[in-house]
Amino acid sequence: MNFGIPNTHMDKLVLQRYLDLKQTTDKVQCEYLWIDGTGEAVRTKCKTLDFDPKSPSELPVWNYDGSSTFQAEGSNSDMYITPRAIFRDPFRGGKNKLVMCDVFKYNKQPAETNKRHSCNEVMEKAKDHHPWFGIEQEYTLLDASDDHPLGWPKHGFPGPQGPYYCGVGANRVYGRDIAEAHYKACLYAGVKIAGCNAEVMPAQWEFQIGPCEGIEAGDHLWVARYILHRVAEDFGVVVTLDPKPVEGDWNGAGAHTNYSTENMRGKNGIKHIEEAIEKLSNQHSKHIEAYDPRKGADNKRRLTGRHETSSIFDFSAGVANRGASVRIPRQVAEDGYGYLEDRRPSSNCDPYCVTELLVRTTVIGSDK
Ligand code: ADP
Ligand code: MN
Ligand code: MN
Ligand code: MN
Repeated sequence: MNFGIPNTHMDKLVLQRYLDLKQTTDKVQCEYLWIDGTGEAVRTKCKTLDFDPKSPSELPVWNYDGSSTFQAEGSNSDMYITPRAIFRDPFRGGKNKLVMCDVFKYNKQPAETNKRHSCNEVMEKAKDHHPWFGIEQEYTLLDASDDHPLGWPKHGFPGPQGPYYCGVGANRVYGRDIAEAHYKACLYAGVKIAGCNAEVMPAQWEFQIGPCEGIEAGDHLWVARYILHRVAEDFGVVVTLDPKPVEGDWNGAGAHTNYSTENMRGKNGIKHIEEAIEKLSNQHSKHIEAYDPRKGADNKRRLTGRHETSSIFDFSAGVANRGASVRIPRQVAEDGYGYLEDRRPSSNCDPYCVTELLVRTTVIGSDK
């Protein structure tokens, strides 16, 4: 137990007395969520409304101070947040909402790190193809006092990888309470969470979002990330999406993106999957640039060709091959239709960038 960080020793039972207060019938709290200038962190602030919003268009456009989020100069700092997707708020309950937003600058242009805007345009163009995504979000829990992986000995390492993946038992999985609470909170919120599991490195976990169509994939993953950070905050634990939190013989963290179009899911879909893989193979470096916030520098630490990854320098594909850039799941090869798995996106990728580029490369056919 760390006594230096407030959340780790505040008594949450006291908070519960206030959360249990009956909601006033005429007010709804809306937590607006957006992505800051780092392209990695979610920021939020709360607004009281005097009606229960049913669609994002009913919600007012709001603003915030962009000079405090790495997005604007202090002298011209107002940024606009436009509501785009509504979820139930699992922290406040009742009619209260989480609201995922687009960010626009003073001149009404999308902020540099607002990748949702162009993603949505591409998804609109491609909507007759009904692109579906399932994203596997891996993450690592850290001790809030020293950013050391949760439950790891302070001097030295846990036993080598092997027993931890999908493991059970106090000596095999660290921090299950957080994964469990997150799962429930996502279901409550209306986030399409598909499952979760303990990962290969101890203190590392995964949850999956999907299948989601089009822009929904990015919206749901970003809200799921917010819920994860927020749940971990309650436990006094930190979540990192760093793709290689521990150097050496320890697995990194990715955001495998499973992708299909209507053609791929239909009869002879495998032909369309193979065509898509061919197109992806011609754009490898462009995808690597878009698959982490530092244009490949983050993924370079992870995509080494070891620890169930491919090399960052080469494109490869194969059936059931977890050492390839793109994997065709064995079941898909047997059925002759289904989806492909792009294993390259980094855990800290922006899913709006990844899903946009997959659709651009495989169905739109023109790249920025
Ligand atoms: P892995 O075997 O790589 O660990 P997971 O079971 O963790 O795979 O994740 C698979 C993901 O693929 C899930 O999120 C699921 O929703 C998604 N998925 C399943 N079918 C499709 C499909 N046709 N198109 C896109 N995504 C899909
Ligand atoms: Mn998985
Ligand atoms: Mn995994
Ligand atoms: Mn996977």
